Order: sequence, then C-alpha cells, then structure tokens
Amino acid sequence: MMDDRTQVIIVGGGLAGLGVAHALGGRGVSCVVLERGLMHGSSGAMPRGRDSDLRQTAVSYGSQQLMTSWGVWDEHLASAACKMTSICVQDGGDSAKTVFSAVEHGYERLGSIIAQSLLREGLARGLSRHSSVRVIEEAAIKTMTRGADGVEVVLEQGTVRGAVVVAADGRCSPIAQGASLGYYTYDYGQQAVVAVMAHEKPHEGLACELFLPQGTLALLPMADDEAGRHRSSLVWSLGHEAAQAMLACSDDIFAEQVAYYSESLFGPMSLVSKRQTFPLTLTRAGAYVGDRLALVGDACRSLHPLAGQGINLGWRDGEALAKVIHEAHTLGLDCGTQAILRRYEKARYADSLALMAATHGLNRLFAHRNPLSVAFRRCAVRMFAQVMPLQQKMMRYGMGMSA
Ligand SMILES: Cc1cc2nc3c(=O)[nH]c(=O)nc-3n(C[C@H](O)[C@H](O)[C@H](O)COP(=O)(O)OP(=O)(O)OC[C@H]3O[C@@H](n4cnc5c(N)ncnc54)[C@H](O)[C@@H]3O)c2cc1C
Repeated sequence: MMDDRTQVIIVGGGLAGLGVAHALGGRGVSCVVLERGLMHGSSGAMPRGRDSDLRQTAVSYGSQQLMTSWGVWDEHLASAACKMTSICVQDGGDSAKTVFSAVEHGYERLGSIIAQSLLREGLARGLSRHSSVRVIEEAAIKTMTRGADGVEVVLEQGTVRGAVVVAADGRCSPIAQGASLGYYTYDYGQQAVVAVMAHEKPHEGLACELFLPQGTLALLPMADDEAGRHRSSLVWSLGHEAAQAMLACSDDIFAEQVAYYSESLFGPMSLVSKRQTFPLTLTRAGAYVGDRLALVGDACRSLHPLAGQGINLGWRDGEALAKVIHEAHTLGLDCGTQAILRRYEKARYADSLALMAATHGLNRLFAHRNPLSVAFRRCAVRMFAQVMPLQQKMMRYGMGMSA
C-alpha cells in the first residue's frame, strides 16, 4: 500500500486542478493530483466520461500567456486552436451592435478557441515535465482528515499526507461542503445547447453573441474541418422546454433555426456533431479557504457561460494559490494555515466578484422584456460602440490582461 507525503493534495484532475498542478510543479512545490477518473499520460486522454465533451473553450489572451509560462501551450495546442480576432455583441432584433476588434486596439487576437478535451489532454500531457507532481488516477477517497498538523487522505490505494488540500472537484464541491463552506446558488432555469455547426461563409475569426428573448446564442470560431468546411461552435442558452425541443428536432430543422436566429450571419448552416446540453446555474462558495483547505475553479464559483470566462478565472486562481504556497514554503512557513491561505482568498476576491457580477448582470439585463429595460440596454450597446476607452477597458478585462 502506498504511503505518500507531499505539500499539496489536489482533489480533481479537471482543467482547474491540472492548472494548479502546473503552477505548483513549475515552482518546484510537491503535489499529488487525485482524479477519480482516468488520465492516460502521454497519450493525453482525459478523465473517463469526458471524451465526448463537445464544448469549445474561449481561452483568453492572458490565459494563453499563463499556459505558455507553464509550458503547456505547445505546438499541438497552438495548431488545434482557432484565433478569435473580434467579438460582435448584439441585442437580437435591434441593429445596434458593439464589435470588439483586436486589431483596432493593437492586438493580434482576443484569445483562442479550442476544444475542452484537447486542453485537458495538453494539461495532462505536460505534467510529466514536473518531477514534483504525481497523479493518482481512479482515486477513491475513503476518508479525509484535516487536523492541526496536516491533512490525511485515505484512498483505496493507500494514504496521502500533506499540508493543505486543494478542492478542484468542480461546481458545489462536496469537499468544500464537507468542510461546512456553504454555497449560494441561482438557477437560471436554462440549459446550454452545445453543437458544432458548418456554414457557407468563413467566420474570419469573428465570435458573435446575440442576446435573444429566448436566451443568448453564441457562435465561436473553429478551424475548418478536413473537408474544408467552415465551422463554429454553438452555445445557445435556452429555457428547459425550448432546449428539449432543440434536442428533439431533426438535424435540418436544428440547423435552420440556428441560421435563422443568428440572422444568417455566416450563411446557410448544417449540423456536424451531436447535440449536448449543460445545466446553467450561478454558484458561489461562502469562502474560498478553510482550515488546511483552498478552493479553485468551479469549486469557488461557476458562471453563466455567456462571457466564456469560467476556466480563465479558474487558472488565475491556480496561479495565485501556487504563488502564496510557494512563498510560504520558501520562508519555511506552514502553507496550510488560515493566515497564509487568506492571502490567496484576498488576492482572488475582486476578480472573481467582478466577473460573477458582470455575467449575471448581463444575463439578467438581457432577459428583461419590458420596454424600459429594452430601451436601456439598447442605449448601453450603442454607447459601448461609441466610447472607445470604455470598450478598451472591457476588452482588456475580457482578455485577462488587467485582472
Ligand atoms: C456550455 C459551457 C461552455 C463553457 N465555455 C467556457 C469558455 O468558453 N471559456 C471558459 O473559460 N469557461 C467556459 N466554461 C466553464 C468551464 O467549462 C468550467 O469553468 C471548467 O470546466 C471548470 O473546471 P474545473 O476543473 O473547476 O471543474 P470540473 O470540470 O467539474 O472538474 C472537476 C474534476 O474533479 C474530479 N472529481 C470530482 N470529485 C472528485 C473526487 N472526490 N475525487 C477525485 N476527483 C474528483 C472530476 O472527475 C473532474 O475531473 C463553459 C461551461 C459550460 C457549461
């Protein structure tokens, strides 16, 4: 039976957990990642059950730089990613729109769009570079004890001891709840319908976001497929009934509906993938740290995907936490104490709250149909199109460059 001693025990080998492991490993801090699924090292498969995840992720410019510094953004990921050079935000049914253009503001791209599954593969593959990082797959946690001197996790495979446990186990983390950190949750009463659409016209790096009365429809640019078809990833937030209807209709009707509601921006469309749905809720942990415990990624908070910022925030969590732990470690301090971990919480508070408020506020604003709200938001969209400094500020924030 294994008996492992380490500094940090990370529970969850998703995008956030793997990000923390890179941030710690790059600083030489020892950690063990416990993943209940499977990850196949160099061949880069991801945790079991995720291999059919159709989601594409908008990786901000800042996150791409962070991943480059972790040594993760390699040739493989770079060649699979599609450059996002502009974003068009439009109130459906109105001609007013705001276009955020990278080139106009002196940047080459706003970010990149890449499959979540490939990101996981890339992050998992890169871990072999860090001798201080170990991954335990199919980890079945039997007990976890957080005591005055450290944390002890008993698995079916053996025991792991460390100074601090990082909960990277996703939305409404059972580990955080087991430590009595409660969650605030808001159910949007919506599901995100996700699919890959082929279309006649090239997208030229344009992502579009249409705020429709039924919900937000986003098309994110993807690389052309082997047959040369232009493609975009669809994320359409719809009420439960409408989402079910979009799952049940034929491929042709589905494609017609998406083309119709996206105002034929990219011409006629066809569906070239399965369709998947994801429930949409806003969640926020009452605190990001506890005794010998720190939360990262969706365990801290999960957002409506309309701004494509969830894991971008999660990676910033990972980097900030690794910095605090490394500093404590270098000074010979116990990195699991609340005094040390509160520094991490403080560092992440403003960024996290700002994005939660922005995505939730936007979602609520565009959900209203009364004439006053409609007039107000159309005014706001027009104002954003005109006021360059405001646009620049928003854009830099979305790019993860001023967080
Ligand atoms: C439709 C949609 C589109 C999105 N688009 C974007 C986007 O464009 N850009 C963006 O930044 N974000 C986006 N997001 C958000 C992003 O997907 C999430 O923020 C991200 O996946 C969260 O990663 P995580 O590692 O924190 O959690 P998870 O992905 O939930 O991973 C948790 C991991 O922990 C493991 N685990 C759980 N419990 C245990 C246990 N007890 N022991 C061991 N392992 C355990 C699980 O197996 C899993 O691997 C989107 C979300 C949705 C729903």
